[in-house]
Amino acid sequence: MGSSQLHVALLSSPGMGHLIPVLVLGDHLATHHNVKVTVLAITKSAETQFLKSHQKSNSPIDIIPVPAGDVSGLIDEKTKVFTQLRITVREALPSIRYSMAAMDRRPDTLIVDVFCTEALSIAEELGIPRYAYHPTTAWTAALFMYFQVFDKTIEGEFVDRLEPLRIPGCMPVQPEDIVDPLLDRTDQQYREYVNLGIEYTRFDGLLINTWEELEPNTLKALRENEELRGIVKVPIYPIGPLKRNFEGKNEGEGRSDILKWLDRQPVESVLYVSFGSGGFLTAEQTAELAWGLENSQQRFVWVVRPPCDGGPDNSINPKLEGGDGAAPDYLPEGFLARTRDVGFVVQMWANQMEILTHPSVGGFLSHCGWNSTLESLTNNVPMVAWPLYAEQKMNATMLAKEVGVAVRPAVTPTVKVVRREEIERMVRTLLQHNEGKGIREKVKKVKASGDIALSKGGSSYNSMCELLKDIHTRMHSTLGNPNPFLSQITN
Ligand code: UDP
Repeated sequence: MGSSQLHVALLSSPGMGHLIPVLVLGDHLATHHNVKVTVLAITKSAETQFLKSHQKSNSPIDIIPVPAGDVSGLIDEKTKVFTQLRITVREALPSIRYSMAAMDRRPDTLIVDVFCTEALSIAEELGIPRYAYHPTTAWTAALFMYFQVFDKTIEGEFVDRLEPLRIPGCMPVQPEDIVDPLLDRTDQQYREYVNLGIEYTRFDGLLINTWEELEPNTLKALRENEELRGIVKVPIYPIGPLKRNFEGKNEGEGRSDILKWLDRQPVESVLYVSFGSGGFLTAEQTAELAWGLENSQQRFVWVVRPPCDGGPDNSINPKLEGGDGAAPDYLPEGFLARTRDVGFVVQMWANQMEILTHPSVGGFLSHCGWNSTLESLTNNVPMVAWPLYAEQKMNATMLAKEVGVAVRPAVTPTVKVVRREEIERMVRTLLQHNEGKGIREKVKKVKASGDIALSKGGSSYNSMCELLKDIHTRMHSTLGNPNPFLSQITN
């Protein structure tokens, strides 16, 4: 060992959406808590390039890519994304085990992301403390862990229920907000989901990318509600809001066209519209959204993508690659010309952080992925909540109903088309009406509470310190235990 600096290994499942929160957590631990961090990243080709650039950018953390093996023999075209992820991680376990044992300096603890909970066994073999990282809300963490009870006590499909799911002490989950893996009990991903929740409860602690002031009731329930604690057991560490920093150029040469356009717009006047790294809309919904934006007569920046009429599991638009710069032919005829003065349309992808940090942006019509949500709230930007897949419907409900920082359509966008009149109304509400002003004030309070939580002495800062103390305590109580696995590998 030799050094007194704590060495934490973080394990990330494949996919940029999973890798980025783990890197952010690693940067945070290294920068603010003087921890040596090694990230083991299960990678497919898309992440490899990104990792190279992250390593070059003076990152304070070490990264070890663990190539994802070929799982084509274990899945078929019907295998859902959630199941594919779990299988990919399962198959990578031997490589992860080997990589950990082969490190020059043995990690003192292992923190795994949400899809890597089966790596618990590796930490057990190594005799080191183990923690899971839930990169979204405490509410979804509560559902994950308590779901094993619903699995045993409720019959039939969950979406057919008229009654909400009641997690003790927490806001009930409405049937229409049920997360995708629970839509079909006969599918393997349902079982994977139940197991994942059970696995969470076996760790020494659960880190959650939220903060006390954002989810006070749920966090209290997770810690104190006897019925919930009977299942959850694991200590809870809210350590957010952790998010990427904007690393682009904000001034002078190299300033992007989009920033130059935003510079010419009034403060808090522009709606930013984007559906995350892989979200897409149907052709009909894309056209309705275009009409709704145009009819609202408000300014907007829209990251448009070719429509895709697949189901909710096809969250990655197959047509995302490329984008030849030509005017998109799937928008209503004349839309671009008619909105030229008020709209900026970007195809496929934009630098979201540079947009959200610009003072002209006054609203974000978002799919409510948790990274996008935090990027919005921590920049004082209220939202139109337009959930598509995964846990986004729960996020949207929490943001609109519980926290009060978003408006949302009356219909669930993946179930029914949101019509242009409703879109127009929501956009105007956010950017023009008194109701929108109230929401903006609320967002400012939420942002301020997040800043305080992360600052020295704040709730999330303290929670991270508690976690590090717990790691030290557990390390000392396991020191000296023989570690048969390590000697097998290293001899
Ligand atoms: N993002 C971006 N430009 C885009 C779309 C997405 O920079 O055009 C980034 C966004 O800033 C966020 C991430 O991709 O950090 C999306 O993560 P989120 O959790 O919001 O949604 P997901 O893509 O996982 O559904």
